[in-house]
Amino acid sequence: MDVIDELIANNRAFAASLPVRHVDVRPARGLAIVTCMDSRLDVFAALGLDDGDAHVLRNAGGVITDDVIRSLAISQRRLGTREVMLIHHTDCGLEQITDDGFRAELQEATGVAPAFAIESFTDVEANVRQSILRVRRSGFLLHRGPVRGFVYDVDSHRLREVEAPES
Ligand SMILES: [Zn+2]
Repeated sequence: MDVIDELIANNRAFAASLPVRHVDVRPARGLAIVTCMDSRLDVFAALGLDDGDAHVLRNAGGVITDDVIRSLAISQRRLGTREVMLIHHTDCGLEQITDDGFRAELQEATGVAPAFAIESFTDVEANVRQSILRVRRSGFLLHRGPVRGFVYDVDSHRLREVEAPES
């Protein structure tokens, strides 16, 4: 059985164990979280969230891309979120590549240079501060003040807040 078949069976048991109910599409805690796709970070468990509490946007590195801004704009303007929490983490895969190296690898393998930025980094805290600034400076968002950034330690499970930049 491949992994997805196993997950389908898991879902049958999961759904059977729960009552049918409807939760509001608007996150109850008025919160959007942007974080990495890292498989070791269980966002809901790590933060004590329930389903229906928050939007969780994930990509490689938790990078504030145009697509993340798109989702945050919808989250804030249509679905009522006001606070943004950014969570980067220790031992990220993006620390193990370079923009130039990975771009060259993709181009060599396919003949096409990617149009997207790779967004590798070496200093996780500096990267969090950059992400805070990108959120703050997006005019598409309604709530740019309440944005805080953190580094999650994948070994100790602890969050450490990164001091926000001045502007
Ligand atoms: Zn990561």
